[in-house]
Amino acid sequence: MSYGNQHRCWAEIDLAALERNLFRIRDSLPPGIRYVAVVKADAYGHGVYQTASRLMQTNADAFAVANVEEGARLQEIARGWPILVLGPVLPEEESALVQLGLVATVSSTNEAIRFSETAGSLGQTLDVHVKIDTGMGRLGVWHEEAKQVFDTVERSDNLRLRGIYTHYSDAVESPEFTHQQRARFIRAIQSAGLENRTDLLIHADNSAGTEAFNHENPFNAVRVGLLQFGVTQYPSSVFHSVSIEPVFRFNTRIGLLKTLPAGTPVSYGRTYVATKPIRTAILTAGYGDGIPTAASNRGQVLIRGQRCPILGRVTMDQTVVDVSAVENPEVGDKAVLIGKSGAAEISVSEFSQWTDSIPWEVFCSVTKRVPRIYSTARE
Ligand SMILES: *Cc1c(COP(=O)(O)O)cnc(C)c1O
Repeated sequence: MSYGNQHRCWAEIDLAALERNLFRIRDSLPPGIRYVAVVKADAYGHGVYQTASRLMQTNADAFAVANVEEGARLQEIARGWPILVLGPVLPEEESALVQLGLVATVSSTNEAIRFSETAGSLGQTLDVHVKIDTGMGRLGVWHEEAKQVFDTVERSDNLRLRGIYTHYSDAVESPEFTHQQRARFIRAIQSAGLENRTDLLIHADNSAGTEAFNHENPFNAVRVGLLQFGVTQYPSSVFHSVSIEPVFRFNTRIGLLKTLPAGTPVSYGRTYVATKPIRTAILTAGYGDGIPTAASNRGQVLIRGQRCPILGRVTMDQTVVDVSAVENPEVGDKAVLIGKSGAAEISVSEFSQWTDSIPWEVFCSVTKRVPRIYSTARE
């Protein structure tokens, strides 16, 4: 519901910026490197239909989602596109996975056998990527045991090997460990004799990817999520010189202005007490919209180009800020949680630091109460 096209709290998603980001990321990669657009969790809260449609027009080669349910949703608009399911598949999801033609991740011999039997019983073939655990300790077959999984996949009449991948656990902090993960991955592929299979998609790098592509390694694809949505925070990444634009803005409004006398507490628990008379604004958003309580007494918002500190605890629907620095604030004024106001800017990364969080989590924490407003103009 909006009144006069105004909202209490809303996210603006710039699809043209998303498109420019994808073009720039692609331009930074050698020709022939394929682009798997990661759009799990409703495209990091950006809306999977709107963003995936734009990414399709912008030459993404494939998509990756977290689970079969997300794959089914995306399939409605992406029929014919490869959609890789990154997460584990539950037994009751297997037949849907096969019937929808999604691409499965295989992490064990057991899974390969299960998937093969399900595909066989449906008289179909399932495309799979084998995932290798090179030091993430999550999905994937341990790199020293990968050969058995490859053999099981290759022996099955109902499975078709389409790709091999691994995931880095510490690409930002530890180039050394990441290098070791790469070496383990390459060795696992070589010992299975698959290094010359150019028909396979071989991928490891996400937004934090650290090493360049060259003829000495078998990589031919990237798997990118966060970066396309406008967040770069990795100085060591292969993508560090790509000039990425923010895609996501997060706004609310001033609902009430007040002056509090010295000594007045603000919000639950009285964690803030005015030491002098103070001009405050009550904003029409809280943790029910995606401003975490961790931002209490720590975060800031932008009003008329000025930084305004959050006072006291963030509550479900309202947040109090100090507007002493703002000239003539008015009820209805926009308060920027993430984005620009005049010369000031709050990035997703800054927002995440106030809340001891990470940009991925910030995006996923903007709730469904918050309408996503899309701008689509091409520039
Ligand atoms: C989420 C995810 C990605 C994308 O990571 P970004 O850091 O957002 O680029 C890539 N691979 C896997 C396995 C993932 O789960």
